[in-house]
Amino acid sequence: MEQKWKEWLGKIKFVRSLRVRIFFIILVSGIASSLLMGYAVLRNYEERAVSLRTAVVQNQLLILANHLIHYDYLQSNTSETINAELEMLSNLYDGRVLIIGGDFKVVRDTYGVSDGKIMVSEEVIRCFQGESLSKYYPELGYIQITTPIKETVKVTTNSGEKETVVVRGAMLTSISNENIAAIKDVMKHNVFIMEVVLTFGIFAIAIAMSKAMTRPFERVTEAISAVKAGYTNENISVSDYTETIHIVDAFNQLLSRMRVLDESRQEFVSNVSHELKTPLTSMKVLADSLLTQPEAPAELYKEFLEDIAAEIDRENRIINDLLALVKMDKTAAELNITSVNMNELLELILKRLRPIARKRDVEIVFESIRPVMAEVDEVKITLAITNLVENAIKYNNEHGWVKVILDADHQEVLIEVTDSGIGIPEEALAHIYERFYRVDKSHSREIGGTGLGLSITRNVVLMHRGTISVSSTMGEGTCFKVAIPLNYIV
Ligand code: ADP
Repeated sequence: MEQKWKEWLGKIKFVRSLRVRIFFIILVSGIASSLLMGYAVLRNYEERAVSLRTAVVQNQLLILANHLIHYDYLQSNTSETINAELEMLSNLYDGRVLIIGGDFKVVRDTYGVSDGKIMVSEEVIRCFQGESLSKYYPELGYIQITTPIKETVKVTTNSGEKETVVVRGAMLTSISNENIAAIKDVMKHNVFIMEVVLTFGIFAIAIAMSKAMTRPFERVTEAISAVKAGYTNENISVSDYTETIHIVDAFNQLLSRMRVLDESRQEFVSNVSHELKTPLTSMKVLADSLLTQPEAPAELYKEFLEDIAAEIDRENRIINDLLALVKMDKTAAELNITSVNMNELLELILKRLRPIARKRDVEIVFESIRPVMAEVDEVKITLAITNLVENAIKYNNEHGWVKVILDADHQEVLIEVTDSGIGIPEEALAHIYERFYRVDKSHSREIGGTGLGLSITRNVVLMHRGTISVSSTMGEGTCFKVAIPLNYIV
């Protein structure tokens, strides 16, 4: 039911607007309370008017009751004075008075309809028990009042003479509420006019309030639009509501993140251009120096061309690494996850790298603690581990060693790559994952680094929701530890 209601609301687009909702809430609650107030005023007036009139008439009836006893009207209803009084009363209140004697017989009916009839009803009986009652019948348009006709008599008892009250008869009076109803009608009319005026007022208030209350949100949109359009890059501030403060805070955080991204993008682009230009500059210098020496010996040509070929290789490596990195950014959500036998995978990677290690006289040791199956992207993980082992070989000493350990706990696959190499200075540890960062530019250029390898490795590990950490001692060696969940976390 609630779902359907929401769907229906969703269909009417304008109801989605907070402003429209506030407008309707104020309008509906304003009109409802003005209607309620009008109803309460009328109701209150009617109740008060009826009770006031009842009290007045009851007083007069009490006096009349005394007169009835005084003139002994219950025995003979011929008293002119009483008849005149009755006449006046019924005329004054546009009512009817029934005087009932002790034998429940109607002594006098001012309407002259029930004279001499027996009248027994609950009210009459209760009246004979001494109760004075009144009841209002709004639909029938009259108030009924019953008044006991009491006489104080002296009775002689054993303990002496005593005064006691005896109910001799009952008076059943119905008085019209006509002028109460007439006043109520006039009031109804006035209340209606007041309600119409109030409705217009509430309408105007609802428009003004809904506009004022949603204005901060419009200001948030304006501020964000200004940033979007590029007029400003400053943090925005709309502190009217806690809600707008939250939205604006979140937006400012997003903005500062974008600034950082933008800065790093600019830095990346300038780094890329620089890195790509360096081999080209070298090639240009080499080619120019050959061109300026037409008589240069063939050995010099060969040597320079070999250097140019090396620079081309370097350029190629940089481009390949860049492509790998860019691809990684793009396919962050598109990992090709399969269940991979990590032991076999590591064997294969090390097999491929052994010739390079042998060239540098570095020994590779593989320690596989247990068989491990993991859900990973085989190609990307291969790239990540290859980079680590390649670095361990590259930044090693002669007769050095690289130890790769494969282990797992019940949650993660753990890979450790330790080397006996040159180590990384402590102040450089925080930067080694940055793109194009190299500890010793000239040395790693000699070795053939691009500064992108660890950045690629870290990206791959993070894409698998894993962690990477490093510890290193200068001159002793470095240890990289990678932990990747056995089951891929979406
Ligand atoms: P590169 O292509 O230069 O190797 P990386 O991103 O792979 O780029 O590494 C960044 C820098 O970190 C390297 O230039 C090197 O100075 C340092 N480094 C990485 N691995 C090791 C290691 N095992 N031993 C010593 N230094 C290392």
